[in-house]
Amino acid sequence: MDFTLTEEQRAIQMLARDFAREEVEPVAADRDRITDWQERMPWDLTERASALGLRQLPYPEAFGGAGADVLTLCLVGEELAVGDLGFAVNIDQTWKLAHILDKVNEPLREQWLKRLCDDPRFLTAIAITEPGCGSDHQGYFDDPSIQLNTRAEKKDGRWVINGMKHYISNGPVASLYVVAARTDSSKNLREGLTGFLVPRETEGFSVGRVHEKVGQRLSMNSELFFENLEVPEENVILGEARMFEIRGKLLSMGKPEAAANCVGVGRAAFEKSIEYARERVQGGKTIIEHQAVAAMLADMAVGLETARTIIWRTAWAVDHQEPYDFTLGWKAKIHASEVAFDCARKGVEIFGGAGIMQAAPMEKYLRDASTFLHSDGTNQILRLRTAKAYADGTASSF
Ligand SMILES: Cc1cc2nc3c(=O)[nH]c(=O)nc-3n(C[C@H](O)[C@H](O)[C@H](O)COP(=O)(O)OP(=O)(O)OC[C@H]3O[C@@H](n4cnc5c(N)ncnc54)[C@H](O)[C@@H]3O)c2cc1C
Repeated sequence: MDFTLTEEQRAIQMLARDFAREEVEPVAADRDRITDWQERMPWDLTERASALGLRQLPYPEAFGGAGADVLTLCLVGEELAVGDLGFAVNIDQTWKLAHILDKVNEPLREQWLKRLCDDPRFLTAIAITEPGCGSDHQGYFDDPSIQLNTRAEKKDGRWVINGMKHYISNGPVASLYVVAARTDSSKNLREGLTGFLVPRETEGFSVGRVHEKVGQRLSMNSELFFENLEVPEENVILGEARMFEIRGKLLSMGKPEAAANCVGVGRAAFEKSIEYARERVQGGKTIIEHQAVAAMLADMAVGLETARTIIWRTAWAVDHQEPYDFTLGWKAKIHASEVAFDCARKGVEIFGGAGIMQAAPMEKYLRDASTFLHSDGTNQILRLRTAKAYADGTASSF
């Protein structure tokens, strides 16, 4: 095993670290409290991330990206989330399309890649969840009675999509969407779900309610509506009824990246706790000298180190191991999200009364960290899927 980062990886990690510390973190807390989502949306930071090449990092160099691998995205995702988790999620969601680019029809790919890389505000979204179908599309997709009700029908050689989604990250602000719709309702999702590329400007597309969340407030989630929305055959990704193959790619790469975001917010809580514990004096000494506080800090460090290690291991497996073991990503996301929440909780305790005051950073970290216990698949469902993979013998042995 060799954990040495390449010079390029180290350089991009440092670039992201400086950007997050100098430009994201100083404004994040004030932004978080803005009530109007349109004012809260961090377009200025998105543009800066584009100028630094971070938003378009995994896209091909020929179009202005850097062709970054999953490990590099995890390094950058962790740094951005130290600055602000919601902002990191906006960027991370936009990386996801890069993971399925080879599945997108070629002329369409060229056309959208150029726009995506050139436009500093171009964000993307993946729309699967609906009010009647949350965990079910994560774990129980073999049941045809599942209430994923967005449907697409073929009419005169074009696909007509009707239905709605909710909770979609970047929902109200994306330029391009991957939308999952049923093309054969008699079949389960594995056999009857199709992925479509839907440009925002398509007639019949509209954004519904923007959900107000307690955490990740610099990331916007919303409902999306599709009313007799028409797309040509070439907008089908990979082929009819193949959304589950696409999702497999999104899952394998997306899970370690989401987990890296979690480590970022946990690390922010840890770093601020260390600073505070070195300065705050009670009982005649700095609180870091009290063993009860020191032990909490040590536990935070253990959690972060183990979470980062499983993320790097998973990222390596995504880039190098065939067949990829999906339980790696599930385990990484479960562990990292719980470590992040635990770091924020311990941070609140280390800050004492200040922990819950809006003037100190901890209450925001606690709100932010809470979002990933269920976002990207609830930890309960990911645990069930992990256990099932071991029971079935499909998880890799140690
Ligand atoms: C911040 C955020 C961002 C999101 N972004 C996106 C996005 O970009 N795109 C997208 O498509 N979706 C997105 N989602 C949706 C997300 O994937 C779902 O919220 C998640 O899968 C859970 O679904 P649910 O909210 O309907 O909860 P439910 O499925 O209703 O779950 C409620 C509770 O029941 C448990 N449960 C449910 N079913 C079972 C079962 N069979 N066995 C045991 N326990 C069970 C769950 O673990 C949970 O504790 C986002 C959600 C959030 C919160």
